[in-house]
Formats: sequence, C-alpha cells, structure tokens
Amino acid sequence: MLGSRMKGRAAAMLGSRMKGRAAAMSDRCILHVDCNSFYASVEQAEDPKLRGLPVAVAGKEELRHGIILTKSTEAKAYGVKTAEAIWEARKKCPSLVVLPPNFALYKRYSEMARDIYCQYTDRVEPFGLDECWLDLTGTLQLFGGDVRMVAEEISERVKAELGITVSIGIGWDKITAKFGSDYRKPDAITEINRKNYQDVFWGAPVEDLLYVGSATKRKLNASGIFTIGGLARASDCYLKRRFGKVGFYIRSFARGEDASPVKAYDPGLHDVARSIKSYGNGLTAPHDITSPDDARALVYLLAESVGQRLRGDSMRAHTVCIGVRDGATLEGFGRQVRLYRATASTGAIAKAAWELLLASHRIDADHPIRAITVRVTGLEPLFQPMQLPLFPDEALERERLDFVIDDLRRRFGNTVVTRGTVLLDKCYQGLDIKEDNTVHPVGFFHV
Ligand SMILES: [Mg+2]
Repeated sequence: MLGSRMKGRAAAMLGSRMKGRAAAMSDRCILHVDCNSFYASVEQAEDPKLRGLPVAVAGKEELRHGIILTKSTEAKAYGVKTAEAIWEARKKCPSLVVLPPNFALYKRYSEMARDIYCQYTDRVEPFGLDECWLDLTGTLQLFGGDVRMVAEEISERVKAELGITVSIGIGWDKITAKFGSDYRKPDAITEINRKNYQDVFWGAPVEDLLYVGSATKRKLNASGIFTIGGLARASDCYLKRRFGKVGFYIRSFARGEDASPVKAYDPGLHDVARSIKSYGNGLTAPHDITSPDDARALVYLLAESVGQRLRGDSMRAHTVCIGVRDGATLEGFGRQVRLYRATASTGAIAKAAWELLLASHRIDADHPIRAITVRVTGLEPLFQPMQLPLFPDEALERERLDFVIDDLRRRFGNTVVTRGTVLLDKCYQGLDIKEDNTVHPVGFFHV
C-alpha cells in the first residue's frame, strides 16, 4: 500500500533527484567479484576426476547433522541446496560426491584470487573467503578506462590461473556492485549503471538487497514493499517507526547512496592463513658471545631473515625489538624502539636492533651474551599509503635494493648474496639463517 501510494509524484521527484545527484558528482567505479560455488569449484580445479560430477563440500557426514556447505553447478542441477542435510541432498542426487572441507586449500585459492585483484587496485576489501570488492575509481585509466573490459580480464585471469569461475558486479557503490554479482551467475558480468538501475536494481525483490534478511523482508512485505525500488521510496516516518535508524540505512542502500569506502587491502588484517602480529628470529649460542663484532654480525644475520620474511609477506614494521639472554646470569631482558617510519629494510631493522643492544648491554668477556632475538612488530601492509620524504631517502632506496636481493635469493638460493658485515667473520659464511633459523651450530662462535 505504502509502495503504491509513493509511486506517483514522490517517485518521480526521487528519480530526478538521483539523476541530478549523479550529474553533480562523478560516480565511483566499484566491482564485486564472487567466486562461484567456491569450495566445490576449488575441489574440482584441484582434482580433474571431479570435474563434470555433482560435487558437494559438506560437514562431517558421520555426525548426522552434516550439512552441505557448497555444491558444484552439476549438483545444483539436481536441486541440491546449500545448508540442507547430506541425506536430503543424496535423495535428490544419489551420485553426489560428498567431500569434507579442506579450508587450508580454500584459503590458498582465496589468496591467489586476491593477488590477481590487487594488481588492479590497492582497494580490495574481502567479504568472506570468496568475495571481494574492488574500487577501480582511481586506477581505471591505467587499464584503458573501460570497466567492462577490466572485469572481463579479471574473470578470464581467475579462470586461467585458478581454474574457477567468478561472477562480477559493476556498480557505483558496494551495494550496487554486490547486487550485480548476485544478479547473474555463474561466470557472468552484470553492470548496474545510472541508465538501467531503475529497471534492474529497483525492479528486483527487496530481499536481493544486501543486509535485507528474512525478518526485514517479512516486515517490508507486510507493509506492501516488495521491491528495492519500493524501499527506496519509503517515507521517513514509516522507516523510523518500523525499523528505527536501521531503516534509514537500508533505504540509503536501496537509493544507491552507500558512501562507505572499499578499504585498502590489508594482508595483516585479512591474511586468511594466519594473523601475524610480529616476525622474529633468535639464536642461542653454544658458547657465549663476548665481542661486539660477533654480536653485531649475529644481529645482522637475524635481521636479514626477519626482513626477508617481512618483505615476503608484503609488510613493513614500525617497531624493532631485541631480546638478550645474559651469559653469566642467564637472565633475559627485552628492549624495543618505535621507528620514525615503518620499514621493510634489513639494514634499518638491523641498525635499530644493534643500537638497542649497544645501549642496553655491555659486551665483553665479563658480560657475555648467550642468546639474541630480533623481532619486529607494529606491522602494516607494504602498499599502505605513507608520507614520503621530501628529499631522496637512503632507507627507501635500501628497501628497494632488499627486494632485488630477495628476488635473487629466491632464484639462486639464500646464500647467493651475503652482507659484508657477515663476511668479516668466517664463522658465518655459508650459513643460511632463513632455512636453518633455529640451529645451534657447534663451534659457530669464537671461543
Ligand atoms: Mg561465492
């Protein structure tokens, strides 16, 4: 009733208001990429024998309450549904191949997909393991300026590199983009734009809008609001009375006025495999360290592996910590320093760690050291925007050099490039600190 009452003049006014607004500000360009039947597709990509078969990934079958988590397109054709019990699914599809979930594998595919997305923009915001928003507003011109072509390229690359299909929605905010990726699947691209949204977006059932769940749908339907367009036209007093503040949110989504940004990808936050808070490496010497040269070389050696792992995960660190175990008392202590600017440079980490050690411990025959640990924390992703120095900066140059060295080491082995500090001491030559990072080599230090 309310929907139809609003249809006349108010709807016309709202329509023109949205058009005016569209003209007044330039729209963002947002993609929502959704991997189709993710778990099942990954299983099929990994095992060619499963391709073409009705496959479902489900919880433990012997627990009786095992439910279907995802089904392949082939299983879907039999009417197998997500969240139904395995026995129900088997009734519809006796040949159903039921697999237990392998989350480590799905996480790996998820990371590979995100690696592709991140090549088009730094604004990649995951929504679960298999979905991401991409904001191409600032980078589209770099890829030719045609959003559809970029979407096609991403889709083709995921297909070729991962062996799974995606459906992509193109919109001007996260809501319209998400709507687009749900609109047609699998392996489809749907663009919601200012020309077609009144038909496609507004004409769709209201429950197709992100965040409209079954309870909200029931309430809206009871008031005669069945479409997203109906919700877009709902009045202030109705929304306030029935939904409170939330009502205004969902109406702004229906109106295509969601201003929430697509967040910059943060592998630290979104690292699907593990949530790393710090990187560290330590070595207990079989004999006490009694000379500053030995200690310094060890600090550099440890910092080398810490920096390498940090860069390998595309991170920078703000804080450098050292841990020292006294050779005489066997007591340990720690010190840390927050750097002026986050770094991924081995040299910068080593320098800070060495200065901490020098400032906190005398190193001679009377003050031996048993163990040293170098650790970094306060992590941020490498491509997080940072204030660059006005003048050429040695630390940044060195960081870049480190990446080149990492690449050489990846290709030719960890010992192919060695730091001069380490070469000064014959004992360190040939030690692969990254590979042997908990070694206790006998005779390793001067005695
Ligand atoms: Mg999906």
